[in-house]
Amino acid sequence: MDFAINPNHQLIVEGVDLVCSGFDDTYWSQCDQNHTFPWDFYRAMAEGGWVGICIPEQYGGGGQGITEGALVLNRVAASGAAMNGSTALHLTLFGLNPVVRFGNERLKEAFLPRAAKGDLHVAFGVTEPDAGTDTSRISTRGTKTSTGDWVISGRKIWTSKALESEVCLLLVRTGGHPGSFDGLTLFLVDLDKRYCDIAPISKAGRNAVASCEVFYDELPVEAWRMVGEQGQGFRHILHGLNPERILLAAMACGIGEAALRRAVAYAKEREVFGRPIGANQAISHPLAKAHMELEAAWTMAMRAAWTYDQQTNDQQNLGNKRTTKGDDSIGQLANTAKYLAAEASYFAADQAMQTHGGLGYAVEYHVERYWREARIQRLAPISQEMTLNYIATKGLGLPRSY
Ligand SMILES: Cc1cc2nc3c(=O)[nH]c(=O)nc-3n(C[C@H](O)[C@H](O)[C@H](O)COP(=O)(O)OP(=O)(O)OC[C@H]3O[C@@H](n4cnc5c(N)ncnc54)[C@H](O)[C@@H]3O)c2cc1C
Repeated sequence: MDFAINPNHQLIVEGVDLVCSGFDDTYWSQCDQNHTFPWDFYRAMAEGGWVGICIPEQYGGGGQGITEGALVLNRVAASGAAMNGSTALHLTLFGLNPVVRFGNERLKEAFLPRAAKGDLHVAFGVTEPDAGTDTSRISTRGTKTSTGDWVISGRKIWTSKALESEVCLLLVRTGGHPGSFDGLTLFLVDLDKRYCDIAPISKAGRNAVASCEVFYDELPVEAWRMVGEQGQGFRHILHGLNPERILLAAMACGIGEAALRRAVAYAKEREVFGRPIGANQAISHPLAKAHMELEAAWTMAMRAAWTYDQQTNDQQNLGNKRTTKGDDSIGQLANTAKYLAAEASYFAADQAMQTHGGLGYAVEYHVERYWREARIQRLAPISQEMTLNYIATKGLGLPRSY
């Protein structure tokens, strides 16, 4: 164990804080209210090399791990950009991990260098309206053609950034039966508008980054666009899902930090009954509790990130042979970090709103935006209930309820 500040990490924090200082809360509020993607911010982050930080150096990226990716997204969220800023980047940052781990060389050469430069926007299409959390029930279908290529038809829901993205990491059924994870296959498909109908979903928050319904109508996909092995897609996306949970935990902690910063400043300056409201323990104790819970969640997120990176290095040294023990333990750490961070972030944002009184509900004070964005992590990318199910069964060995 080493809790000393790592000089490389300190540089990342300072570098990202510097870029983010050019984009204040007013910028983010306007992006949210106008439903506009934060292009200026995205370009500034890409120019700084932050978008490609986790892509291997041989493909033009920074070659860093999920720990460093988590630091980047934590600072973005903590700047006040919250989910509007961090989810503008996060899919390029980690989303191509299954391609890095399992993709063929042609796929890596074609897409990773562009992602590293920030030129390639990537979406992630797993959730379907009729399957919900039960991914084994997805019905979007890939059918092999006589030439060995594929045609994909079906319907996905909530595909974030589908409007801006050129490609989508798409999980489809190519065999097996509904209810089974065998027979699911992963492709990196073009979101070709001739075959894909994309419609944004009107939602409560994070309005700078749209999430969409996507209808795939006989989308042609060449065979080399398959990621990894046919029928092993679910196992492959786990190498995207665990990092995603760790990064989401880091983002949630960042939102909580931004909310707490505003709450503390307001509690010091706002006077009612002739004294600052922060002198009342009904105000100060929940803020202190929020601070402690965010610290604990952040420590858990860093532990999960560190463990993931260690396991990745060990597996690479072993020639990518997976260790079952390792895969289970990272799943538990990533889920625990995401659960704790989602709770801590929402509690902090809710207390920030309470501290502001009526003004907490006014757009001008920004905490209502943090509150709306902190709420998402309790639902997605995995709900809190499913996280508890995972820990109950995998961590405690309790019987499955589903
Ligand atoms: C803003 C946003 C962005 C998103 N972006 C993406 C994206 O880019 N790509 C993508 O593929 N998906 C995305 N999603 C989808 C997200 O991953 C799902 O919404 C989430 O996994 C929950 O699935 P569901 O909405 O179908 O809920 P359901 O599966 O319908 O569940 C409904 C409720 O029932 C509970 N429940 C269900 N089964 C059980 C059980 N056995 N035990 C206890 N509780 C249970 C759930 O916890 C939940 O509270 C996004 C969602 C949102 C809100």
